[in-house]
Formats: sequence, C-alpha cells, structure tokens
Amino acid sequence: MRVGLYPGTFDPVTLGHIDIIERGLSLVDRLVIGVAINRDKGPLFSLEERVEMLEEECAAITARCGGEIIVHPFENLLIDCAKDVGATVILRGLRAVADFEYEFQMVGMNRALNNKIETVFMMADARRQAIASKLVKEIARLDGDISHFVTQSVHTRMKAKYAQS
Ligand code: ADP
Repeated sequence: MRVGLYPGTFDPVTLGHIDIIERGLSLVDRLVIGVAINRDKGPLFSLEERVEMLEEECAAITARCGGEIIVHPFENLLIDCAKDVGATVILRGLRAVADFEYEFQMVGMNRALNNKIETVFMMADARRQAIASKLVKEIARLDGDISHFVTQSVHTRMKAKYAQS
C-alpha cells in the first residue's frame, strides 16, 4: 500500500489545493492531508476549522473520484509526520518560480533528515495556478468575489469569518 502525504496550512483550502488532491489520489493508495498548525503564519482559521473544511471537501472528492483520504493535523517535523502516517511520498504543488526556491531548500533539508522519503511535485493546473490562500483572504477581507477560487462551502465560512470581525 503506497501512502502519500500532502502537507500544508490550508488556511483555507482552495480550488488549487483540491486540484492537487484529486490528481495526487491517482498516484497513491491512500492520501493523507497533513494540516500544519503553523502558528508562525498566524492563520485566520483555527486548526479545527481548517480540518473540518478539508474533511468536508475530501468527502466530496472521494464520493466523486473514489480513493482514500485521511485528514491529519500535525505539529511535529514534516518528516516525522510522514513516518507516523506510514508515508513514503510527500506531495507538493508548484505554482510559479517563486515557490521553487523554498521548495528546493525544503527537499534538501528533508532528504538530509530522511532520504527514504521522496518528494514529488505536481505543477499547478494552468487555470488554478494563480490561486493562493493568502490572496483569497485579502480579497474576501475587502469584500471581493472569491467564488472562482474556493468552493461554495468555504466561501460561506469566509464570509461568516469576516462578518464577525
Ligand atoms: P504551505 O504553508 O505549506 O505553503 P499552503 O496551504 O499554502 O501551505 O500550500 C500547501 C501546498 O499546496 C504547497 O505545496 C503549495 O505549493 C500548494 N498549492 C497552494 N496553492 C496551489 C495552487 N493554486 N495550485 C497548486 N498547488 C498549490
């Protein structure tokens, strides 16, 4: 059984992430979505909220595409998380050259820590490569239309979040 780990902050999950999840599913038998606590990034949504949104989206994905997805919050090192969930492959999405330098460095560090775990990069879909959680939050905060970037359910949650503040 090949287990893949797709880690991220998912604050919130976007259509770009969903594309990577759907395509990643065809490469592994089980896909674990690793949700990083990421206190440094000062997330808008709590870890519980991010997990809840992902679980909802993943249920819709498996109903549509089949496959097995597990949503797994983690606070330890990525490489240790991979070991905990039995993953031999880490999946990451690449949008632009800007992503490349950071990802390249991360792979180097992770390989030094454990060279048995391979990182696989998937190029972002051309229609979704501009989508970034950070920009989606900025647009929503300024009351712009985010319906092309997230699902209806995430859209509703974001509206509620910004209405509170
Ligand atoms: P992180 O804090 O690890 O960057 P993110 O939630 O921002 O977490 O992203 C998780 C992963 O999803 C990263 O590999 C990122 O490059 C990828 N990703 C984000 N947005 C997109 C997109 N629009 N298309 C493809 N991959 C994406």
